[in-house]
Amino acid sequence: MKHVKLGKSDIYVTPIGFGVLTIGPWQMNLPVSEGAAVLRYALDSGIDFIDTAQYYQTYPYIKEALKGFKNDVVIASKCLDPSYEEMKTAVEEARREMDRDVINIFMMHEVRAGSDWNDRQGAWEYLMEAKAKGYVKAIGISTHHVDVAERAASIEAIDVLFPLINFRSMGIRHGDGPGTKEDMAAAIRRASEAGKGVFAMKVFGGGNLTGHYREAITYVRDLPGISSMMIGFGYHYEIDRILEMMSGTLSPDYIPETSHKKIRIDQGDCLGCGICVKRCPNNAIFININGKAEVDHEICLTCGYCAPKCPVLAIIMF
Ligand code: SF4
Ligand code: SF4
Repeated sequence: MKHVKLGKSDIYVTPIGFGVLTIGPWQMNLPVSEGAAVLRYALDSGIDFIDTAQYYQTYPYIKEALKGFKNDVVIASKCLDPSYEEMKTAVEEARREMDRDVINIFMMHEVRAGSDWNDRQGAWEYLMEAKAKGYVKAIGISTHHVDVAERAASIEAIDVLFPLINFRSMGIRHGDGPGTKEDMAAAIRRASEAGKGVFAMKVFGGGNLTGHYREAITYVRDLPGISSMMIGFGYHYEIDRILEMMSGTLSPDYIPETSHKKIRIDQGDCLGCGICVKRCPNNAIFININGKAEVDHEICLTCGYCAPKCPVLAIIMF
C-alpha cells in the first residue's frame, strides 16, 4: 500500500489505518494473541498505521503484533486526561507498554466544544514538551466537534487532526447539537490547508453504516485534505476486502456482514446515576421515564466509551 505524507510532519502513512479499539476489551474483547494476530495480518498486508489510546487498553495487542515485525509502523495514541501530570503518565505508559522509545503521534483524546481545549492546557503543555524531548514526533487532537476542528487550523503547534466524519454525518457535533458532514469537511479542508495532517475516524459510523460499504469509504477517501482513515477491523477477511476496495478489485457482488452489535443497558441493574449520559460523546444515552438509562440506537456509535464508566456494570455490548 502506498504511503502519503501527513501534513507538514515527516510522517508517512497508509491511506487506511487500523483502529484497534475493535479488538480490545471495550468491543470484541479478543484474547491478546487473537487480536494481535488480526493486527499482524494487517501489518503483513501493508497497513502499518495504527490508532490506539490509553483508554482502549490495547497496548498489549500492539506490542504482541509487532514482535519480529521488521518494517516501520506509525502508532497514534491519545489521552483523555486534562492535566500535565496525567498526560506525562499517559505518554510514559504508551512508550513502556508498547516497548517504543518514540510514539509517532500523540493526541488529546476527544476534545469537545466550549472550554474543553482551555481546560486541558496542562495536557497540551506536556505534549509540546514531549515533542521537544523527542518522546513523540507529532502532536494533535481527536474530536467529534466541528468547532474544535475549525479551531485546530489556527493553532500553530497542532501537527495532526483526527476528526469524526462519515457520509451520514453520524456522531458529528457542532456547538450543543448535531453537526453536518459539510461543515466538518470544510473544517478538515482548512486544517489541511494550514499544514495539519488529517486522518478520519468513524467512517462507518461505529458500524452503523457498514452496509453502505463502498459509499462510506469512497466519501471519506475522496474528501479534500484527508490523508488516511482509521477502520476498526476484527477479522482477517475484513482486511482483505478493504485492500481490494482500495485497489479497485473488490467484487461488485460484495455485501458486507453488518454488525449487529448494540449497546444494551440492563434496566434492572441501572441506578439511574447518569454517569453514562455525561460520558457519551454523542448524546446517545438518556434517562427514561422510569429513571433508567436508555440508548438511542439511531445515533449510538457503538464506541463502547460508556460501558467502563458504569459503577454497576449495567452497560454491555453484545
Ligand atoms: S452509569 Fe450505569 S447505573 Fe448509571 S445511569 Fe448509566 S447505566 Fe445506569
Ligand atoms: S451510548 Fe455508549 S457506545 Fe453509544 S455512542 Fe454513547 S458512549 Fe458510545
